[in-house]
Amino acid sequence: MLNKSKNTTHFGYQTVNKEEKTNLVSNIFHSVASKYDLMNDIMSLGIHRIWKRVTIQHSGVRPGHYVLDLAGGTGDLTAHFSHLVGENGLVILTDINQSMLQEGRRKLRNKGILANVRYVQANAETLPFPDKVFDCITIAFGLRNITESHQALSSMFRVLKIGGRLLVLEFSKIESALFNKIYNAYSFQVLPCLGELIAQDPHSYRYLVESIDVHPDQETLKRIMIDVGFSETTYINLTGGVVALHRGFKF
Ligand code: SAM
Repeated sequence: MLNKSKNTTHFGYQTVNKEEKTNLVSNIFHSVASKYDLMNDIMSLGIHRIWKRVTIQHSGVRPGHYVLDLAGGTGDLTAHFSHLVGENGLVILTDINQSMLQEGRRKLRNKGILANVRYVQANAETLPFPDKVFDCITIAFGLRNITESHQALSSMFRVLKIGGRLLVLEFSKIESALFNKIYNAYSFQVLPCLGELIAQDPHSYRYLVESIDVHPDQETLKRIMIDVGFSETTYINLTGGVVALHRGFKF
């Protein structure tokens, strides 16, 4: 485990000042935004689409619901939710990074998704929404990039309606030692090369791999969510724990 004082945090394997992490993460996503979707498909062999479908299946979202797709980037979940909430519902795609939001807006507009989606640039730590407005909040592959993740989870709790649910889709800890070995070889050796070849950016993809490694495991994240106030908090492992989907309710 890396040494962390009150004013420092992880940036991949480095320990940096907290203010610095937000800027460093921001630079990463400015840099990868235009190639983000392509790289996602290549790096995960398309499996991220299945993980996102499972997230939608656990969302309980229905026509008329208000949904927050937080750290939503290029809007994959937003596109699904837009169909589910229908004309009386609303999906807000929120991200701290303007380049990612622009990619998302362009992609969704090209798909004809317009009427029930709004775009808000905001930091998950200080969400600019009133209390108790959302039926469902999702954060997919965003939590590990946030400097003050505990504060962000509290902010999500505040804006959820009573009875609303949070879904956190995030890389996690692999259950099988053998699979873990193979996965580590792939992610530390192959992924940065792919990042160099396709996005001319090996450093950003090395950060992504390192940030996965230092992210809390399934049980730790579950405890953090309970600490923040979420009830009936559970998780399921996907692809042997490469990714976990945590779910918690506000009662
Ligand atoms: N959810 C999308 C998906 O699953 O494809 C995008 C995930 S991408 C790996 C992580 C996103 O988190 C980036 O778009 C980044 O800008 C965003 N992000 C990082 N820190 C954030 C923060 N403090 N508040 C809101 N978004 C943040």
